[in-house]
Amino acid sequence: MSAWVFRGARVCGGPPTDLAFADGRVVAEAPVGAQVYDADGLIALPGLVDLHTHLREPGREDAETVETGTRAAALGGFTAVHAMANTDPVADTAGVVEQVWRLGQVAGHCDVHPVGAVTVGLGGQQLAELGAMADSAARVRVFSDDGHCVDDAVLMRRALEYVRAFDGVIAQHAQEPRLTEDAQMNEGVISAQLGLVGWPAAAEEAVIARDCLLAGHVGSRLHICHVSTVGSVDILRWAKARGIRVTAEVTPHHLLLTDELATSYDPVFKVNPPLRTAADVTALRDALADGTIDAVATDHAPHALEDKETEWAAAAFGMVGLETALSVVVAAMVDTGRLDWAGVADRMSLRPARIGRLSGQGRPLEPGAPAHVVLVDPAARRVVDPAAMASRSRNTPYAGRQLPAAVVATFLSGRPTVLDGKLT
Ligand SMILES: [Zn+2]
Repeated sequence: MSAWVFRGARVCGGPPTDLAFADGRVVAEAPVGAQVYDADGLIALPGLVDLHTHLREPGREDAETVETGTRAAALGGFTAVHAMANTDPVADTAGVVEQVWRLGQVAGHCDVHPVGAVTVGLGGQQLAELGAMADSAARVRVFSDDGHCVDDAVLMRRALEYVRAFDGVIAQHAQEPRLTEDAQMNEGVISAQLGLVGWPAAAEEAVIARDCLLAGHVGSRLHICHVSTVGSVDILRWAKARGIRVTAEVTPHHLLLTDELATSYDPVFKVNPPLRTAADVTALRDALADGTIDAVATDHAPHALEDKETEWAAAAFGMVGLETALSVVVAAMVDTGRLDWAGVADRMSLRPARIGRLSGQGRPLEPGAPAHVVLVDPAARRVVDPAAMASRSRNTPYAGRQLPAAVVATFLSGRPTVLDGKLT
């Protein structure tokens, strides 16, 4: 039997208490012989759940593997991640999603839930085997061509209709392809100054508006990946008010960083969707606070050195984010008074688990709940050191930056994956 008690932990920021668990579940009272962990001053949250992680395996094991990516996840306080489908081969069959799911089980650092591709080979031409992936051992419920937009309206409608049978959701990477051909960064004052091809907000917003209308028409669940503009927030607010079943996520970097960073020409700030303006950042923070945006998702996108440390125009899009996500959310949302710790638990654990239909994750830390727990030191300050990260890639936009709060321990089903800030 494995039993622990976190002495003096503040559950979701509440008053200090003893949080106990035994045999993988939260219990009302610590059993005799439980290991005691001094959690004085620490916050306990349900284990974090990421809706949007790129683990790169199979195909780009030089950038990340399920093993290294889930180590990074555990260090970031995550007990479940959704692994995006844009691998090589693409996760568009029961065979590939089961392979990724099994790799996650073998690694054992957190639950790995594969996302299934919407279309064969992410090609946008033909629906993938959605039902077979849903019925597989991986029990896929989230489907996405992330990295690509499902821009054919008829195909998008068919996908939405199809996943209703097993309560699945289509997660759209909203990017109108023609409006973003050769785009390098947000279209605005800075792109004009730098002479880089801009990426208009309308290219994101047009797709979100269309898909909300489609989801409303067929009565299906739609999820919008990495929302990045004021206009997208307005459309989501409108759609939700009309009862359309749409949910949305925002990345930590879109809550903190702006397109002014592109003036450095450092490709570490090149990401899809691009960093936007300060006005967008404020709107995204407000929307996450009021629930218009449901969840934070990392869009952890590791890249090998040769793909990222090159000139801006040639560099790959994306940033790593698992190991800094919680700290960035604290900086953007808690330290600015927009969310309390219960709000952080809701946006980073409860709601993403509900969107992904993960019944065993994102549960309040009450007796009987699975013992997926993260302990956070809210008073800690740390300077981000890319060389110290568990991810195989180093493309963090926060190198050298001081961030608040630190993950002290992560427990998966009552077993420590991280203890005293280190992998067990
Ligand atoms: Zn994407």
